[in-house]
Amino acid sequence: MTPATANGCSVPSERGELGDSTPQLRRQRSEALRARYPFAVEMLTLYEALLDVECGMPDFMSGLSASAIAVHAAEQVMPHIVEATLAHGPQPLAAAVSERFAQGGLIDIAARWLADEELSPLDRYLARAATQPVLEALGGAPSIWPERPQDERHCPVCAGLPQLAYFDVTGEALVTGPRRLLCARCSNTWTAPRLTCVSCGEQTSPRLPVFGEKENFPHVRVDGCETCKRYLLTIDLLKDIRAVPVVDELAALPLDLYAQERGLTKIMPNVLGN
Ligand SMILES: [Zn+2]
Ligand SMILES: [Zn+2]
Repeated sequence: MTPATANGCSVPSERGELGDSTPQLRRQRSEALRARYPFAVEMLTLYEALLDVECGMPDFMSGLSASAIAVHAAEQVMPHIVEATLAHGPQPLAAAVSERFAQGGLIDIAARWLADEELSPLDRYLARAATQPVLEALGGAPSIWPERPQDERHCPVCAGLPQLAYFDVTGEALVTGPRRLLCARCSNTWTAPRLTCVSCGEQTSPRLPVFGEKENFPHVRVDGCETCKRYLLTIDLLKDIRAVPVVDELAALPLDLYAQERGLTKIMPNVLGN
């Protein structure tokens, strides 16, 4: 794909709100974390290849319907996701993706992801990696989401589930700002209360265990819930001002494994399935 200026891919290091990020910022962070976390190299290499696909996206006019987004994602983006996975993904994933792509029905899986329907992990990977850049380019495409139940635990744009939480940083003095959540589907972010499970709403602190691994991940923690047995990772930007939440969350795989060993299930796996 040809390099494009769409989606902030040519913008070197401008960042507005800290938890927000352009593909270029995500790439810079991914490169830095590859050097820091050898165990995450394979995953981050694939992630960078997916960012390349996003950087090749054209600018979109707003107003696309959900079905038009699904068609575009399946026909124009998914072939590049498959190529990137074949070139940079782990062999078992590459083989599975190649076989799945040949089976067809790809518009359907993109449409089902947009409609909040259950998908196999493989279909979800393809649907998500292909629709996410389109939705981001459309600012979350607020017009396509029908009336859906909305509360502070769901994305106010698409009613999707949170991928992760982060503590934002505000002001010149760099003090911890609000807790924000990042949507797994449209990448929108929103503010959520602290000390509340973002899956079931539990607020009793002894039922909300927090785990971490300070040596390798001083800025990342597991926020678990003993009531619904769900968790998500929280990135604290005050502890690492260079963190890009969506990238740091991918690299924190050992924390996912630790949470899962304790019987917790992630509210929403990240794009690479962890
Ligand atoms: Zn959303
Ligand atoms: Zn809960």
